[in-house]
Amino acid sequence: MRRPVVAANWKMHKTIREAEAFVDAFLPRVAGLRAVDVVLAPPFPALAAVGRRLAGSAVALAAQNVNPEPQGAFTGEVSAPMLVELGCAYCIVGHSERRSLYGESDAFVARKAAALLEHGIRPIVCVGETLEQREQGRTAAVVREQLAGSLASLPGERGADVVIAYEPIWAIGTGRTATPALAQEVHALIRAALGERFGATAERIRIQYGGSVKPDNAAALLAEKDIDGALVGGASLEPDGFAQIARAAESA
Ligand code: PEP
Repeated sequence: MRRPVVAANWKMHKTIREAEAFVDAFLPRVAGLRAVDVVLAPPFPALAAVGRRLAGSAVALAAQNVNPEPQGAFTGEVSAPMLVELGCAYCIVGHSERRSLYGESDAFVARKAAALLEHGIRPIVCVGETLEQREQGRTAAVVREQLAGSLASLPGERGADVVIAYEPIWAIGTGRTATPALAQEVHALIRAALGERFGATAERIRIQYGGSVKPDNAAALLAEKDIDGALVGGASLEPDGFAQIARAAESA
């Protein structure tokens, strides 16, 4: 039985004050949830303040990015040990926005994931095809290649500590969600690929769906066999909506 995990990817939204106001409104709305892991990924400047607000709650803190090196001359970057100090339990890596806007390769994503695990932070590794790749019938090949490359440097025994987020790029921020059946089809192929890489551990790896998840479509997506949670962008910016998604995961 895999415990669902829902994560809020705030991207470049919310000042420190706005992030604190979100947490104050959000925590009472998810206080009773026991069967779901709930994660907030604010932008770097708000991590410390959100972490302080989350202390003592069951909601976990995540970063949206990391540099694989522990320290050094990397202007503007943040390392895994720094995230540990801030109390991050998770970190998103390989988001399609970072891959497409900042040219991040699978190999770079793999180094980030390995560095995070080394420091006790669970990577949320994002994969997903473009609309063009889907229309060309290349979804399976693209996703398998991203998975193989992005998990390349991971020690086999750490498989269960990784979260995969399947995010079809055509569904991110577009309001166009994959149908539950279509998402499940790709989640099943991801689980099969994880099986080739990690053996029986693949059954314990959580695979989130991401791409225009909203309170009104979350339950149907989360009811699918291999959909173990959600990575949520737009709908996670509002406490009530994201709490509704967390509740849908709790009862899935
Ligand atoms: C995302 O960017 O991770 C995402 C899923 O965004 P949205 O929910 O807005 O589609």
